[in-house]
Amino acid sequence: SPSRSGLDWARAQAFLARERASFARANPRSAELAAQARQHLLFGVPLHWMNDWGTPFALHVDSAQGALVIDADGHTLVDFCLGDTGAMLGHAPAPVAAALVRQATRGYTTMLATADAAAVGQALSERFGLPFWQFALSATDANRYIVRWIRAATGRQKLLVFNGCYHGTIEDVFVDLVNGQPAQRDSLLGQVHDLTEHTVVIEFNDLPALEAALKQGDVACVLAEPVMTNIGMVLPEPGYWQAAQVLIQQHGALLVMDETHTISTGPGGYARAHGIEADALVLGKPVGGGVPCAVYGMSARLAERAVKAKQDAPPGHSGIGTTLTGNMLAMAAMRATLAEVMTPAAYEHMLALSARLADGIRQTLARHALPWCVTQMGARTEFQFCPQAPRNGSEAGHALDGELEHLIHLGLLNRGVMITPFHNMMLVCPQTTVAQVEQLLTALDEVISQIKAPAS
Ligand code: PMP
Repeated sequence: SPSRSGLDWARAQAFLARERASFARANPRSAELAAQARQHLLFGVPLHWMNDWGTPFALHVDSAQGALVIDADGHTLVDFCLGDTGAMLGHAPAPVAAALVRQATRGYTTMLATADAAAVGQALSERFGLPFWQFALSATDANRYIVRWIRAATGRQKLLVFNGCYHGTIEDVFVDLVNGQPAQRDSLLGQVHDLTEHTVVIEFNDLPALEAALKQGDVACVLAEPVMTNIGMVLPEPGYWQAAQVLIQQHGALLVMDETHTISTGPGGYARAHGIEADALVLGKPVGGGVPCAVYGMSARLAERAVKAKQDAPPGHSGIGTTLTGNMLAMAAMRATLAEVMTPAAYEHMLALSARLADGIRQTLARHALPWCVTQMGARTEFQFCPQAPRNGSEAGHALDGELEHLIHLGLLNRGVMITPFHNMMLVCPQTTVAQVEQLLTALDEVISQIKAPAS
């Protein structure tokens, strides 16, 4: 179509062709490494998602420090993707690097605890207000395990999720509402179980739908991000969580808050900042400063029921956990992150800068009269291709435009700034500067100037 999201699509295509050529010219070393990797890596990259950046071939990285990534060709890129939150506290934070160096000659994994274990448990409990904790290697696994514990503890089978949610590759959550009906995601590979049997899906911000689903009496827990962040961003309406919590409690279900992304709100996450009292909390990605690990916490009541479920079960494998879980290296990284990196001072800087970024993007969009919206949650800012902030996953999903995202992201990358693939998410970290935010705003302005429809 000649016009799309307020743009001139023919101009946009010409821009894309120029940007692809420019990327190829500027990145000969990445091209060479990508060609070598294709010989033995399936899809040419360690994880096939790495091909989703919109670049003609895989950009390769030399190193990353603070807010900066140095690519294989020596360009310095300002990183607003930050590993899609894994590096939200900056790449290679000094206290984590020091902890890793200390641990480097003292062993990595023994299937036994070190003195870091109790310290991390205490730090988590003080920060999030839940008394009992366990660990995992990814947020995906932390979600998988907490859902298992809760199903075991409650004897109920159903999981309730919101349409358009993402909680990692835990199978149970890939059920969408299609024309109002639950349907298993058709892009899943090798999924042979019927996920709709044990997963209930409703729209976010819809209290009557929540009540109707809970009334069946078979929902073990609601697994939710307090703000949806994986389909663009969707904020809860005022009062939504307060009312939802009452309903969840009334119907004997539990509430699990997945704060993996919403930890961008502040040191204690979104739930704590907004008075939401969850029965369980999941946090992955940045909790080890970028070292692979994740945590999940439980209320005293849930912990008691989980312990009882284990005691009452026949002896044998619980089906929960992996060999490297809670390994010495990860515990050392988490202890340093919680004590010295994820601090109120770090958040103060991030939140102020993020507000500045969100404001700058709003001004840029207004200057170009583009019908897009901007949503900010703490250190996280998102722009979406719709005039009003979406109310639920369906609305947010309709605003996604993969082709347009790729084109904008590539244009930004060629101008020295990286933002998150799959949508338009930008994070600032403790080392991000005002000048770097200005660089992103200037680059975005330039890209938009080259693809928008000429003023009529
Ligand atoms: N929960 C949320 C809210 C997420 O956004 C993600 C990843 N985007 C995950 C869980 C899964 O994290 P991981 O891929 O590290 O397992």
